[in-house]
Amino acid sequence: MPLYKTKGFILKKSNFEDHHKIVTIFTQTHGKVKGISKGVRKIKSKLAPHLEIGMMSEFMLSESKSLQTITSAKSIKTYKNLRSDLHKATHLYCMCELLDKLVTDSFSDSSLFFLFDESLSSIDREQDQGRHELITIRFMLKALHTLGYLPELFNCTKCGSVLKEEVNYFSHSHGGMVCASCKENSCIALTGDELKVLRFLVRASFSDVERMQVQKKLSDTLNTLLFTYTQYLLSKKINSTYMVERTDAMQVYR
Ligand SMILES: [Zn+2]
Repeated sequence: MPLYKTKGFILKKSNFEDHHKIVTIFTQTHGKVKGISKGVRKIKSKLAPHLEIGMMSEFMLSESKSLQTITSAKSIKTYKNLRSDLHKATHLYCMCELLDKLVTDSFSDSSLFFLFDESLSSIDREQDQGRHELITIRFMLKALHTLGYLPELFNCTKCGSVLKEEVNYFSHSHGGMVCASCKENSCIALTGDELKVLRFLVRASFSDVERMQVQKKLSDTLNTLLFTYTQYLLSKKINSTYMVERTDAMQVYR
C-alpha cells in the first residue's frame, strides 16, 4: 500500500485490542483520516508521546480506503500551555471535538488546518481568559463558514429584511437571525452588541481579536449560542460544552 507523509492534528483516540489505538487525524493534505497505531499502548512505544490530543505531528501513513496504518509520527507543535492550564485545555478539547464531529471523512481544506493551528497557537500564548472565548468563537464561526454552515447574521432568514444592530433573534431551525416580527417561541434574543461582535468575528483577523475588549458575559453567551447551534446541526451533544461550563462554575467558587 502506498505511503505518504503529512502533517496532522490528533482529534480523537480510542483503545483497540490489547496494545493498539485507533486515532482520528485531521491532516493538512488528506482531510480527516482514521489510523491505527500498533503497539502504542506498550510502555516502550516510541510513538505514544507524539500522539496526544490536539498536538500537531508529522505522520507517515500507509494509505487505505478505511483504516490507515501510522508507520511513524513526530510531534511538531505541542502547544504545551494548552495542556498545563485547565481553562485553556477545555478550549483545546472543545475545538478538537467540534472539528471531529463537523468535518466529514471526505472533506479536505488546508485553510481549516491553518485556522486550527492559528487558534491553538493564539490560546496557547494568550493570558486573558476573555480572549480565549473570543478566539474560540472566531474559530467556530470561521469553521462553520468553511464547512457551509455559517448562520445568516445580516438578514432575517424568514422575511429577508435587513437587520440593524439592535435586539433581534436567533433561530436554530432557520439557520440564523430572524427579525422581531418573525420570531418564534424557540428563538434566542441577541442584543445589538452581541450581533455586532458575531458579525465582526466572522471577518476578524487575530490582531483584531487581540485589540478587542468584550465583557465575559457577552462572550459566554455567544460561545453557548454557537455550541447549541452546532449541537442542533449535528443532532448530538458535544460533551466538551459541559466541560467548559463545569470549569467556569468551579472558578466561581475559588
Ligand atoms: Zn423577518
